[in-house]
Amino acid sequence: MANHNFAPETQMMGYGYKPALSEGSVKCPIFQTSTFAFKTAEEGKAFFEMAYGKPGHEGEEMGLIYSRINNPDMEILEERLKLWDSGEAAAAFSSGMSAISTTMMGFLKPGDVLLFSNPIYGGTHKFIHFVLHNWGVIAIGFNAGDCKEDIIKRIEDNNAGDKLRMIYAETPANPTNDLIDIEMCSQIASAYSTADKKVLVAIDNTYMGPLWQHPLKHGADIVLYAATKYIGGHSDLIAGAAVGSKEIIKTIKKHRTVFGTMIDPHTSWLLMRSLETLKIRMEAAATNAEKVANYLIHHPKVEKVYYLGFTPKNNPKQLPVLVRQFLSNGAMLSFDLIGGEKEAFVFLNNLKHIKLAVSLGGTESLAEHPFTMTHADVPTDEKNRLGLTDKMVRLSVGIENWYDIVYDIEQALNEV
Ligand SMILES: *Cc1c(COP(=O)(O)O)cnc(C)c1O
Repeated sequence: MANHNFAPETQMMGYGYKPALSEGSVKCPIFQTSTFAFKTAEEGKAFFEMAYGKPGHEGEEMGLIYSRINNPDMEILEERLKLWDSGEAAAAFSSGMSAISTTMMGFLKPGDVLLFSNPIYGGTHKFIHFVLHNWGVIAIGFNAGDCKEDIIKRIEDNNAGDKLRMIYAETPANPTNDLIDIEMCSQIASAYSTADKKVLVAIDNTYMGPLWQHPLKHGADIVLYAATKYIGGHSDLIAGAAVGSKEIIKTIKKHRTVFGTMIDPHTSWLLMRSLETLKIRMEAAATNAEKVANYLIHHPKVEKVYYLGFTPKNNPKQLPVLVRQFLSNGAMLSFDLIGGEKEAFVFLNNLKHIKLAVSLGGTESLAEHPFTMTHADVPTDEKNRLGLTDKMVRLSVGIENWYDIVYDIEQALNEV
């Protein structure tokens, strides 16, 4: 009993917070302050020396200075976030994009090669192709579904082996639910790492939340989240996170401090509240998604359903990755209607309960048209190659009564 390890869902209620430091308040207050008073000038000097990594303070704990550097809500949130992925440390951000961009800027320099998976989140795609491109970072894409040999050939054909610095992947891919093998990414990274250059593997794990896929366990170095999605879970905030080793997160936080991409105290507090129900929310959504997927697969107006639970049928080659890497079939699915944009729009315009909106991972179900909305910017030939058609609808299944969700889908399909 002495060595009992509490599960993350238990730790979410109080981990990292000491009531005695806040008048006995059971819940962590919102420390809505920009700056913190030092007890003495000597203390202020010591905190700054620690903040800037000066020697002589080994083993000492740094105090609070200024909310761009540290704040109790941000720090306690980070302590809790790291638990789900068994990471040594976490960093919280003002958005998923600030987590992704700060991490990339933190490790990539001009001349470096970034290998990334396609399809990728639109904001990340723009960051890689507009911002990093202007800073001289060379981006090379690979497709979800490519095997190790294909990817290595691509690196070799581009003569990019010595310059490779980061492999960045989103798995499952949005909106096709194709899987990428994280262990394979990690093997490729090892093959191109040298004594003075470790190739890092970064995984955007937003689609699976912190519950259903744990990239660090499969050899990834950094896990990234749009906390806006499952972690926040109520479609009422924008936030992001990075999880990894102490050393990796230290580098990321150094950049966060100078970019000013940290999370604010109020949003940190909202996320702590969200984390208490993360597990039951995500499990309820996954249970509903399974019912919705099984309904859609038998509907005569539906041509194909992209759902992790249908991987054996859709992508039999990816089955070993599904079994090894995923703890659930998740709650994100897409489907092709028979027809095209016209049929997809009739369906979307006739939904009564499900909102027509982008984003995902909230308590409410959302539907959107990837071809003209989230993936509008992807060139048409690339969409064709990825199987992203204009007859596709993406659903983020929420935690409503499942029968109401199916009812709504059915009555909208009747109008098609
Ligand atoms: C939403 C999303 C992001 C960006 O997150 P923001 O909080 O909107 O900046 C990044 N990656 C994925 C997979 C997302 O779904």
